[in-house]
Amino acid sequence: MKPFDPMEAMAAARHEFGEHGGVNMSVEASTTFTVLSPGTMPEIFRGQRGPEQGCYLYGRHFNPTVYVLARSLAALENTEAAYCTASGMGAIAAVTMQLCRSGDHAVVSDTVYGGSFALFQHFLPARTGCEATFVDLTDHAAVERAFTSRTRLLYVETMANPTLVVADLPALAAIAHRHGAQLVVDNTFCPLVVTPAQWGADIVVHSLTKFVSGASDIIAGAICARRDFVTQLMDVNHGALMLLGPTLDPHVAFQLHLRLPHLGLRMTEHGHRAQVMAERLYERGLSVVYPGLPQHPQHAILQRICNAGYGSGGLLGLDLETTERANQFMAILQNRGRFGLIAVSLGYFETLLSCSAVSTSSEMTPEELSRARISPGFVRISVGLTGSLEQRWLQLDDALRTLGL
Ligand code: PLP
Repeated sequence: MKPFDPMEAMAAARHEFGEHGGVNMSVEASTTFTVLSPGTMPEIFRGQRGPEQGCYLYGRHFNPTVYVLARSLAALENTEAAYCTASGMGAIAAVTMQLCRSGDHAVVSDTVYGGSFALFQHFLPARTGCEATFVDLTDHAAVERAFTSRTRLLYVETMANPTLVVADLPALAAIAHRHGAQLVVDNTFCPLVVTPAQWGADIVVHSLTKFVSGASDIIAGAICARRDFVTQLMDVNHGALMLLGPTLDPHVAFQLHLRLPHLGLRMTEHGHRAQVMAERLYERGLSVVYPGLPQHPQHAILQRICNAGYGSGGLLGLDLETTERANQFMAILQNRGRFGLIAVSLGYFETLLSCSAVSTSSEMTPEELSRARISPGFVRISVGLTGSLEQRWLQLDDALRTLGL
């Protein structure tokens, strides 16, 4: 079987021309849509007709421009359908609320983005009565033990934020499916690098805010799944997306769509630079975490599940043990060397640096951080694309020398 290439899959999807023959699609900014015959309207409300038949109703339901972006993302993630949301959290919250009723249960990786952690740890139990058990997803026996008869989903990140633990998706999918649950995978850290649906994921969520945007100028998200699940999300009586309303603006969808054709080039370059820097940091004897290094505990798993040609992702971690040292290091890199910027988020064309324990994972208590193996001095580096690799390495080297490393 030919290996899956997500950029090829996207390129093979239908090209959408503009209203006047423009090479780009037009933006359909209307929030409401007419029907030729009044009888069509109730059919759309009942879900019997929809965008696949060229029938639109209302912008919160489906919008043609957002739908084109969704089709491209479904091709990229090799799923039947997709829906784009106003943020990554909008996507994650809608998926979990659709899957879980009051009294249901989720098994969740103990190392996920702080916002997702807080959603499962605090918000969902308090507001929806859906409890979560957090597990070390590398301990498959513990994952298996955490399931109950009410478990509806196993939630993991392909590469954990921030520790870069790689999920063994085929094994985790088998466990989830044995218990009649769905495997939900957040693939934000590594679009193109891994295609979770190829390995048994039922639902793939994204924060498009990150690598897909690439410019730190847009907040957006996506849900890639089977068509019946996307249809459920849009149900006028029971759909989490339809009723909670985190839909994406068509102007934003248009902008994001224009960035997909060079996502492959960008991911490859992010990955190349991260790989070279990680190798050099490792040779220096530093505590570097990067799944592309043979020494990474899940390197072999990533090699098994990654798509060829897109590297091992643009994020690397450097453990400097204390927050003080991490802060000193980041300050030099930003204010002296111009290596990067001290800011949360990732996937930007500039390098972004953050100390996870006191930023994007600060929702966690010291005990929860320690269980997730997030050290107080762990610096997450989203490796950018600007300047030359050697120029950036000299700046990094300078900061390391200043710290005596
Ligand atoms: N998933 C991951 C892995 C993230 O890192 C983030 C944000 O940092 C999100 C989801 C949430 O995305 P958004 O900020 O677009 O809501």
